[in-house]
Amino acid sequence: MVESKDDGSRIERGAGIAGDMGSQKALQKCDDEELRRQREEMVARQIAARDIHDPRVLSAMRAIPRHRFVPPERIGEAYADTALPIGYGQTISQPFIVADMLAELALTGDEKVLEVGAGSGYAAALLGQLARQVIAIERIPALAERARRTLADLGITNVEIRCGDGTRGAPEDAPFDAILVSAGGRKVPKALIEQLAPGGRMVIPIGDPFLGQHLTRIVKDAKTGRLHEEVREAVRFVPLIGDDDDLA
Ligand code: SAH
Repeated sequence: MVESKDDGSRIERGAGIAGDMGSQKALQKCDDEELRRQREEMVARQIAARDIHDPRVLSAMRAIPRHRFVPPERIGEAYADTALPIGYGQTISQPFIVADMLAELALTGDEKVLEVGAGSGYAAALLGQLARQVIAIERIPALAERARRTLADLGITNVEIRCGDGTRGAPEDAPFDAILVSAGGRKVPKALIEQLAPGGRMVIPIGDPFLGQHLTRIVKDAKTGRLHEEVREAVRFVPLIGDDDDLA
């Protein structure tokens, strides 16, 4: 039995998920023992076992309830080793890929971070655990609104979801110590390079729709401002859609 609630969330049999808590303790209260066990297993088998050892990333992955960011009918798959549809043709990324990207940003807790492609808000919520302030931009208004509501329900207050074209970044809030791009294009948007602080890190899937994308890590040298680019594993993200024709 799945029961619908007014706010669009649902309670699945035995899951005991609260829908509307905004208190500081909400993260714990909105959880459930069985789902927490599944999440622990996800972290152990899919993330720690695949060589992601940053303790802050692992504890953020344990803390954020991924099941709150997937559609109600997908709660049973929330901790599976896969991306899942979130509506509007978009997906919430595979947990391992999210953890890998987060680890590559090497956050220590004091950073201001930009995410492009907030989608469900899951990666943004994780960034909120790892950094001081997060601005996450999503181009689809209904997804942005839903992400905002999910974060509010969980009592997360240092993550702001904005609706718009994230390839322009957020110039009024720049520079950013780290930028996470959760959708893939052919090139790195110029505005994002400009808005990266000296010493800042960006992780972005880059590639051609036919030849495939690779996760790319870009570091802006703190002294010279030069960019160091490192191409990493092959990935498949939904397209980054921006005004800049060169992107797609
Ligand atoms: N980080 C997300 C993954 C969402 S998929 C999560 O944890 O759920 C990528 C998202 O990027 C999609 O929701 C898509 O609508 C969005 N997107 C694509 N191009 C964009 C752009 N130019 N600006 C903002 N969002 C964009």
